[in-house]
Amino acid sequence: MSMAEKTESTKETTIEIEDMITVGTLAERLSIPVSKLIGELMKNGVMATVNERIDFDTAEIIVEELGLDVSLAKKEAEEAAAPKHKKPEASKNAKGRPPVVAVMGHVDHGKTSLLDAIRGAEVVKGEAGGITQHISAYQITNGKRPITFLDTPGHEAFAAIREHGAHLTDIVIIVVAADDGIKPQTIEAIRFAKKAGVKIIVAINKIDKEGADVNRVQQQLSEHDLLVEEWGGDTIAVPVSAKTQEGIPKLLDMILLVTDVEELKADADGPARGLIIEAHVEQGRGPVGQALVEAGTLKPGDFIVAGGSYAKVRNLETTDGKAIKNATPSTPVVITGFKTLPKFGDEFVAVASEKEARGQAEKAAAGNQAAGGHLDMGGSELIRLINRSNELQELNVIVKADVQGSLKSVLDSLRTLGTDEVSVRIVGSGVGPVNENDLHLAHSTGSIIYGFNVSLPTSSKQKAARDKVRVRLYNVIYELIDDVKTELSQLLSPEIVETELGRLVIKGVFKTTKTEIICGGEVTKGKLKVPALARVSRDGEELAEVEVTNLKRGPADTKEVVEGEMCGMSLKTEKRLVLEEGDRVDLFTRQAVERKL
Ligand code: GDP
Repeated sequence: MSMAEKTESTKETTIEIEDMITVGTLAERLSIPVSKLIGELMKNGVMATVNERIDFDTAEIIVEELGLDVSLAKKEAEEAAAPKHKKPEASKNAKGRPPVVAVMGHVDHGKTSLLDAIRGAEVVKGEAGGITQHISAYQITNGKRPITFLDTPGHEAFAAIREHGAHLTDIVIIVVAADDGIKPQTIEAIRFAKKAGVKIIVAINKIDKEGADVNRVQQQLSEHDLLVEEWGGDTIAVPVSAKTQEGIPKLLDMILLVTDVEELKADADGPARGLIIEAHVEQGRGPVGQALVEAGTLKPGDFIVAGGSYAKVRNLETTDGKAIKNATPSTPVVITGFKTLPKFGDEFVAVASEKEARGQAEKAAAGNQAAGGHLDMGGSELIRLINRSNELQELNVIVKADVQGSLKSVLDSLRTLGTDEVSVRIVGSGVGPVNENDLHLAHSTGSIIYGFNVSLPTSSKQKAARDKVRVRLYNVIYELIDDVKTELSQLLSPEIVETELGRLVIKGVFKTTKTEIICGGEVTKGKLKVPALARVSRDGEELAEVEVTNLKRGPADTKEVVEGEMCGMSLKTEKRLVLEEGDRVDLFTRQAVERKL
């Protein structure tokens, strides 16, 4: 065989799939029985049925495990940037509103520094508050006109905005370091902003540095269809230095210029609506949500629903802690009074009464559960499950406390936790506030930092958010311990629970192909439901495990058949299987159930 032929014959087929794909569709694309795919997922600790979605990374791992001669490629989903959330339409009574601005760009190009520089004069350093978990926001004024910034320094937050907040954002500032030029994440940010249809302003940062080359950046921008004004285009690019503050006032002016040109408007009258952009539980205040009002005016005392959670707004504050009476469009606010923790990305809307709020929230919560609840897992969660094994799982923690005495009690309590499957590993501990070293250590060891009666200074808070380090602060020891227990529980491998549904005794087989059998019979026990798995047996000997994909009562599809009834049934099989009258089909479901410590 010549080399050319060899390369040809060993060449893999590439199959394009979406970012999230149902197990059924993936099996179809791969031309393998769905039961085989489900089996492989299960072997890897992922419990998923035909209609559940898995993400690209999981699909890739599974395809590799299956040893298929296929490689997967991500399909450029047209709607990738299309947010789930749509901005409320403005009526003709709509008034001008402040712009909502996000900062994106390559790592180390100065996103955080730029946000700090912009915020600098406005912010009282050392403010209190929770830890930024997702995105947060703040408002500054420039010549009395407010501008809202989404504070999204981390690259991870980018994905979050992409999914939930694209329509929140009117303007994206793309930060490019003048001494480094356009890099992969810059290109990604440009692509994202274009797809989402938001306005772009480029901040060419670090112009104070030796080696800064504004011209070169402008040249590179033109290669990505961003022709700056000096070059005859209409892209606004402002040279700035987050360090010396040079160019920052001009950048803010440009933001307001774009705001005017775009005529950004919203209705300020009527019930408020918007998006939850951050949520956490705060000591003494309960569930606290940060939201961006998009239309209407939010006031203390209003009833709001956000997904499965609702609130009577108790306190309304700006994100730097000032109480306010009204929050108009584009205002980021901190809301207390939620009964349960709202979720990042939930839309909120003000309703007339507590009853209505509760009713809607309950309905939404029930809907979430019916839609698959815990089974609709994202990639990281699937990988977490995959990575679980029978070995001892350790939870890495770093503990900081106010004084030696309390540090010792926390450490002693933590040491008593754990089983033969899971245990707490204390990577570091000390007295004093959570500092940069702790964050660094936590980042490199994947630890959670627990602070007891200590604070997280603002500078560290930024870093923690950016590096996605989990920092949990407590003033009550048992709450801290409970949190650690919850984390430990999550390390426990899930228990696999099978639930028997019922039995069908076959009276006739109507169709048999390599992957499908259609048969009929009588339900002799229990209640049959789909989707389900089943064991097929003859004379007490198991022949195969199959998937039951459909049930028919007479000619019509049905979801459920009970004892004594006759029904038809479609089975998906992995290999050719010949069934006969008298064979038994025992239906069951199999689920992964999280265990608690
Ligand atoms: P991010 O990863 O994009 O958020 O970048 P950072 O804001 O953390 O900045 C990365 C590094 O560049 C830090 O060491 C900053 O001090 C530095 N830096 C940011 N902006 C400037 C600037 O305008 N001039 C100079 N000389 N250094 C800057």
